[in-house]
Amino acid sequence: MTDFSKTRALFDLPDGVIYLDGNSLGALPTAVPARVAHMIAAEWGKELIRGWNSAGWMTMPRRVGDRVGKLIGAPPGTVVMGDTLSIKVYQALAAAIALNPGRRVILSDSGNFPSDLYMAQGLIRTLGGALELKVSDPEAIEGAIDQTIAVLMLTEVDYRTGRLHDMAALTRKAHEAGALTVWDLAHSAGALPVDVLAADADFAVGCTYKYLNGGPGAPAFIYVAPRHSDAAAPALSGWMGHEAPFAFDLDYRAGHGIERMRVGTPPILALAALDAALDVWEGVSLQDVRKASIALSEFFIREVERRCLQLVLASPRRPEQRGSQVSFRHPDGYAIMRAMIDRGVIGDFRAPDALRFGFTPLYLGEEDVRRAVEIMADVINNRRWDKDDYRRKELVT
Ligand SMILES: *Cc1c(COP(=O)(O)O)cnc(C)c1O
Repeated sequence: MTDFSKTRALFDLPDGVIYLDGNSLGALPTAVPARVAHMIAAEWGKELIRGWNSAGWMTMPRRVGDRVGKLIGAPPGTVVMGDTLSIKVYQALAAAIALNPGRRVILSDSGNFPSDLYMAQGLIRTLGGALELKVSDPEAIEGAIDQTIAVLMLTEVDYRTGRLHDMAALTRKAHEAGALTVWDLAHSAGALPVDVLAADADFAVGCTYKYLNGGPGAPAFIYVAPRHSDAAAPALSGWMGHEAPFAFDLDYRAGHGIERMRVGTPPILALAALDAALDVWEGVSLQDVRKASIALSEFFIREVERRCLQLVLASPRRPEQRGSQVSFRHPDGYAIMRAMIDRGVIGDFRAPDALRFGFTPLYLGEEDVRRAVEIMADVINNRRWDKDDYRRKELVT
């Protein structure tokens, strides 16, 4: 059994804040500042360029990748860190397309995060426009898988509503139709049990600044199924993915296995922060996290529906159909969220009208949720949000 009172002590949250946005930016693990300070002073400061060997910087994308791999059911040597998630989506999609020549349709859904769709659109333009992106309704996705599909590219958990796709079933369906799959685990990794190997995913990608608490802009990950790892052609053929970067050959030769998904110099400061953040998962069972997250979100929905009658649930009602977040709709959702944040309850807002709340049992308990709903009810029922200042949109919502 995971002891959540112990995991909570591993995080540094400001007093007076109830943090319901770990689905967007995870909280700061207490161990991170010292680890990053050590990396800067003792490794960068003292080792200088030698650090690439003596401090193991060069192998860090693989070592940290293996730690992330454990949380998504990926065997050692199949995950590597680097770049941002948008870049990793592009790489995975380009490699999957090349592995399925003769087909020209990429299938996704309207619940996907826009950046994933934008990257697909950009890739299609780069490839000369011979491919086509089809965007289905999330509910109709299974029926849209047919013999024309080259790649099924989906995000397992919908960023807006929290709706959870059945990764194993959709992958099976895609494979039966002769398609490959690219799964985006941005809202899954660290939020619920994921098993890319059992689901037989071809490629998977994700970020580490959400439920994995790696910090703003933390490096992304990419998983390539072992059967593809020496066949996948890297679209972004940077020197760090070369078979021998320090041979400085003029021609690119793809590195072995997952190494070829590296692009350029890895972000060592950010990897050090993430590596320290991943320590909180030692002794944590994702089954326990899932159970606790469902209990918290069920309690939240019940309390909100009892006390905030103007809000409409935007997430699936059945917990097994949700990830670890809950959204409610309200036409003045943005101003409501700003007023809540002013009172210490931090969630976020997604256009046009969704108030979004993430449940992260590692550092959130039932008492926090009870208190959050109390403040929310006060803001809504007493129209405390009804101020021009709260309606003014900030750069990031
Ligand atoms: C958060 C998120 C992103 C963000 O991509 P970045 O390149 O890290 O900015 C992309 N896709 C999905 C599905 C996300 O949830």
